Amino acid sequence: MVSRVIPVDRFDLVIFGGTGDLARRKILPGLYRRFVAGQIPEGSRIIGAARTDMPTADFRAHVEEAIVEFVASAKRSSELVGTFLDTIEYVAIDAKGDAGWEELAKLIRADVVQAFYFSVGPSLFGHLAEKLHRYSIASDDARIVVEKPFGRDLKTAQELNATLAAHFSESQIYRIDHYLGKETVQNLMAVRFANILFEPLWNARHVDHVQITVAETVGVGGRGTYYDRSGAMRDMVQNHLMQLLCLIAMEAPYRFDPDAVRDEKLKVIRALLPVAPDDIVRGQYRGQARKNGPDDASFLEDVEDPSSKTESFVALKVEIANWRWKGTPFYLRTGKRLRGRESEIAIVFKEVPHSIFGEEEGWRENVLSIRLQPNEGMTLSVMIKEPGPGGMRLTEVPLDMSFAEALGEEGADIPDAYERLIMDVIRGNQTLFMRGDEVEAAWAWTDPIIADWDARGDKPKTYDSGSSGPEDALMLLHREGRRWREIHE
Ligand code: NAP
Repeated sequence: MVSRVIPVDRFDLVIFGGTGDLARRKILPGLYRRFVAGQIPEGSRIIGAARTDMPTADFRAHVEEAIVEFVASAKRSSELVGTFLDTIEYVAIDAKGDAGWEELAKLIRADVVQAFYFSVGPSLFGHLAEKLHRYSIASDDARIVVEKPFGRDLKTAQELNATLAAHFSESQIYRIDHYLGKETVQNLMAVRFANILFEPLWNARHVDHVQITVAETVGVGGRGTYYDRSGAMRDMVQNHLMQLLCLIAMEAPYRFDPDAVRDEKLKVIRALLPVAPDDIVRGQYRGQARKNGPDDASFLEDVEDPSSKTESFVALKVEIANWRWKGTPFYLRTGKRLRGRESEIAIVFKEVPHSIFGEEEGWRENVLSIRLQPNEGMTLSVMIKEPGPGGMRLTEVPLDMSFAEALGEEGADIPDAYERLIMDVIRGNQTLFMRGDEVEAAWAWTDPIIADWDARGDKPKTYDSGSSGPEDALMLLHREGRRWREIHE
């Protein structure tokens, strides 16, 4: 299979927060991988910017370390790394002050694509937008990339949107949700809208329910203070899980165009019903004794506030009030310190209307499982006859598509979500980025849920580290005769 890569134009990409954790782990190694793939046109430049005062040579050494740490050795050669480092510059800059801005203004070229990645804390987004404008650095076609979190409620998101809108048009703003950059997530749209097979079944008549699980094994240690102000609802559900839900539930856009896709996602968010308190379970992990080494801390120890009511786990039942989905619940679940690191969307289809095989043991409903991690791919479970002479006994077999296996070398070389999204920014393609009204609509739905917890002083249930979450979360489905998909270790 010949890979078709849409070429990009020469660019200047400024990474504000170039010395930070996200740049080191994701952005810089990702850019290097795109360079190796031949996607960084000659004459392009990547400019790190942060307050730390250092010469470009030191920043290049920092970038090289990041590449060594996060890029597979097969993709590294000193020649390639050396050529890539030649594209790197560094400017010491203070988002809140005037240091460095004139120097940056001189460096940025007017005749190439300009992209400014705001990989800094959200409190600096407004400062950066204003400075880019004040120093006449960004052209009318320049793009800004904004990291999460985008606000902490509707009001702060609206304020942030207004601040950015004062200096940039919506077509210039790229709000990143890296879940949308995953290969599988985009494949979801391909599977739904490029095949006749699924669409006729993709509705409440045939789908019993949908499960979206994003399970993590890590706790919040290290970012406890940040997390304590956020919680799973704000940190994961309002953005990542909501985006996945939209892609499953949305109508076919009239074409694969950024605003057409985002219009359809917005309609889904607006059709979400308020969530009843009984349909949502929050949790906090307990500590865990370890055989070797120190015991794992509990959530309350990690956030250093013994009275914290912030949730490290949330499970909820979501209903969409429209013709397609009326009566089909969407169950969402995400949490820290769970049994495994696994992200999956499962479309669980209804039973056949009548079983001609009687009460056949072994019968299961068809499930389309879309795996985001690990091992990105899709599996459709179908019932067949158990082989052998034992009569008409049914058994379940998976029709499995692992992208890495199905696509051979190309599959193994699936770009990381950040790489793909950065290249989309350079191409000027906003399809996989959240629009301002989408983010606001998502907060408008999330805010009353959180306000209700606050008003009731709701305390999360505790759950064992390494489990599937609190017992009550299991009941959320059991009471309706359903069960959660297993989280694998
Ligand atoms: P970080 O490690 O704390 O890095 C922050 C960066 O901002 C540093 O390069 C810092 O460098 C720079 N900075 C701080 N104050 C500045 C100022 N006044 N002017 C200019 N530069 C300044 O943070 P991070 O983890 O990389 O996160 C960056 C953004 O990405 C945040 O919005 C975060 O929520 C988001 N995010 C991060 C991750 C992740 O995995 N890390 C994942 C998703 C989203 P100096 O101190 O030298 O100025």
